Amino acid sequence: MSNYYSLYLHIPFCRHRCAYCDFNTYSGQDEFIPAYVKALCDEIRYVGQIAPYRLTVHTIYFGGGTPSLLSTTDIENILKSCYETFNVLSEAEISLEANPGSITLEWLQTVRRLGVNRLSLGMQSAHPDDLRLLERQHDFFDVSQAVRWARRAGFDNINLDLIYGIPHQSLARWRDTLERALGLHPEHLSLYALTIEHATPFYHWVARGLVPPPNDDLAAEMYEWADERLSQAGYLQYEISNWARQRGTDVLMCRHNLQYWRNEPYLGFGAGAHGFANHTRTANVRGITTYIDRLSQRIERSFPLTPATEQAQVIDPLTEMQETMLMGLRLTREGVSRQRFEQRFHRSLEEVFGPTINSLVSLGLLKWHGERLCLTSRGRLLGNRVFMEFVSSPAS
Ligand code: SF4
Repeated sequence: MSNYYSLYLHIPFCRHRCAYCDFNTYSGQDEFIPAYVKALCDEIRYVGQIAPYRLTVHTIYFGGGTPSLLSTTDIENILKSCYETFNVLSEAEISLEANPGSITLEWLQTVRRLGVNRLSLGMQSAHPDDLRLLERQHDFFDVSQAVRWARRAGFDNINLDLIYGIPHQSLARWRDTLERALGLHPEHLSLYALTIEHATPFYHWVARGLVPPPNDDLAAEMYEWADERLSQAGYLQYEISNWARQRGTDVLMCRHNLQYWRNEPYLGFGAGAHGFANHTRTANVRGITTYIDRLSQRIERSFPLTPATEQAQVIDPLTEMQETMLMGLRLTREGVSRQRFEQRFHRSLEEVFGPTINSLVSLGLLKWHGERLCLTSRGRLLGNRVFMEFVSSPAS
């Protein structure tokens, strides 16, 4: 496992709950932001006190929720806690998710000065009908303005999140969204198929027949068209849902998310945040006030647990190997390296998963590229089936 850590910082505040969202986030709770930021800083510092040594950090990610609802002073205080607690590399990637429409040029200039060097904007669609149905609070003008301001503020690494497979969205409308996104020249694009999550307004609308359910065939057509169009436009696909441009010899992949896909260690701070360190997966309490309360108590925990940890599960070696396959195969170019796997687990890929790999290779779903095992293009479309084979695969 890598010696480098990643930090995920969860900011669970939103202006409005979008109809499809099942993230741990709340609207109308902004009064708790100051106490929450203090608790977040306390949780970060707590880990500094119990960690076995000063950990080296190479990526930090402000996710949510809507991190762009925080003031620049909040961001500064949180980053200060990270710098005081960890050995944050000078070239660390520091990403922040922002909602177009909730940021100003001045805010962007300040957070850029504070060290944030990657901005991820939730564009979702260029079409007002899609945005209305999703209950997003911005329009395409807000997105293009946010990108213009971000460039002026010095951001040279911008991601746009898009959603396809939205009810009533035609292929032509999706193409228009992608073309308009390309016109903004982002370094990175994440494309997600809309999924209908339980207990969201969307779920109830579909259940009551008010909105048609997602059309999987149309969504697959949208994905395939986007894949072709993005490759023509010079973007490299590196993960099932993610594409990046090249700068010199660098592909501008999201280094923070690579940490998850490579099944490397990360610490999650904030309400509902998840972490993985010391072969232990952790999940924090979800409620904002419960989280703040937990951090005000002097509960004794040992690394990587904190007073906010609600669940901790030690991952046995077989599960860790299975998870490494599941997540690593999402990386369409990198796949799972035979050599890295063996260095990490002291067992060969063939020894542990030989029959599963052979059968998926013969079905044309997996392919060896030298020493790397990757999904084929057919395997990408049937990703879940491939992943399930590894989960149910008995260790040899
Ligand atoms: S802004 Fe993002 S996190 Fe907040 S409710 Fe909408 S989709 Fe969810």
